[in-house]
Amino acid sequence: MAKPNLHYAELKSSYLFYHIEQRTNAYRQAHPGVPLLRLGAGDVTLPLCPAVIEALHKAVDDQAHGATFHGYMPECGAGFLKDAICSYYAGRGIPLLTDEVFITTGAADDLGSILDLFSQDNTALIIEPAYPAYVDTNVMAGHKLIHFPSSRADGFTPLPDDGIEADLIYICSPNNPTGAVYDRAGLQAWVDYANRKGAVIIFDAAYESFIGEEGVPHSIFELEGSRSCAIEICSLSKTAGFTGTRCGYTIVPKDLERSGMNLHSMWVRSRTTKTNGVSYIVQRGAEAVFSPAGQQQIRENIAVYKRNAAVLMRALDACGIWYCGGKNAPYLWMKCPGGMGSWDCFDLLLNQAQIVGTPGEGFGSCGEGYFRLSSFGAAQEVEEAADRIKKLFGSQGA
Ligand code: PLP
Repeated sequence: MAKPNLHYAELKSSYLFYHIEQRTNAYRQAHPGVPLLRLGAGDVTLPLCPAVIEALHKAVDDQAHGATFHGYMPECGAGFLKDAICSYYAGRGIPLLTDEVFITTGAADDLGSILDLFSQDNTALIIEPAYPAYVDTNVMAGHKLIHFPSSRADGFTPLPDDGIEADLIYICSPNNPTGAVYDRAGLQAWVDYANRKGAVIIFDAAYESFIGEEGVPHSIFELEGSRSCAIEICSLSKTAGFTGTRCGYTIVPKDLERSGMNLHSMWVRSRTTKTNGVSYIVQRGAEAVFSPAGQQQIRENIAVYKRNAAVLMRALDACGIWYCGGKNAPYLWMKCPGGMGSWDCFDLLLNQAQIVGTPGEGFGSCGEGYFRLSSFGAAQEVEEAADRIKKLFGSQGA
């Protein structure tokens, strides 16, 4: 008899977005025709930039002619895209070998698949509040979990504790949901801790392109000693609007070894067995993201989201509400005014201001009392939402 993975029974049902949808629908039914301002979604709203569209069209045409047609692509990614990504990293002073870059259909895919490299007998430390996939993929893999809380006191960028034994460490910087970023010293502390413990850091860099401040690391590989303890998972979803087009990349250094096994070689073995590569057309579109025109155009789009974030930051500042994020990330993480709970804040914003955000509690219990606002909406809607927030919370500092 086939034996199911019993760990699936340990998964908590993904209630966060379900409950948001339920409450939002209930409001809509009770108030038909009243428009809602959506500051909850983590999806982008701007279309792909012209350089990407042009490359996609050209790649479609390539597929129409025998001389330029592509069948199966290399499982670990096309050389042209891996080289473009290596140049992007080299521009930041990070030398990578072409073969250390693996092209993927997005970060979510590899956050799940990467656990193939690790036995069931591992403990994963997850800095919370966290993107829910970190917990769920590790539950599915049967790993033990350490829910490592972050807080306002540590700026939502906590440092390692040598008394804690962890094998896998999840760091997301800039962070979803808190928008907080690690500075160099903080990330170095985690790299040093991982090397001391023999742990491996899974570094989620999905929002690196939102970093505006000088000196803030975009990649874990900017830190000394990281090549012997880290894997970086990145995505073009938020960087370049690829949420529906699907492309990302994972970097596994060739130096990464545990118990005499080379994790890079293992990952090549995994990918060449379990995938057949990413579509030629999509990879050509992704290559264009790294062209000079593509870089300029995606920066213009990111600037739109960052202006939205600045509008929301000004509104929270005007209300005296504590928050982090927004500066180097598309998310703001605000303290719910007046000691309100996350879901009470959700209901209040929905009912009094017709704003839909995301209750912090949905990202781990230490997110209770906080609320995530996203800057991915249309500028006009964000401005309207900011005005309503000011009216609603005008004098309720937190
Ligand atoms: N990692 C983080 C922190 C995210 O917020 C997201 C998407 O919202 C992902 C990974 C998944 O990205 P992708 O669209 O590349 O699968």
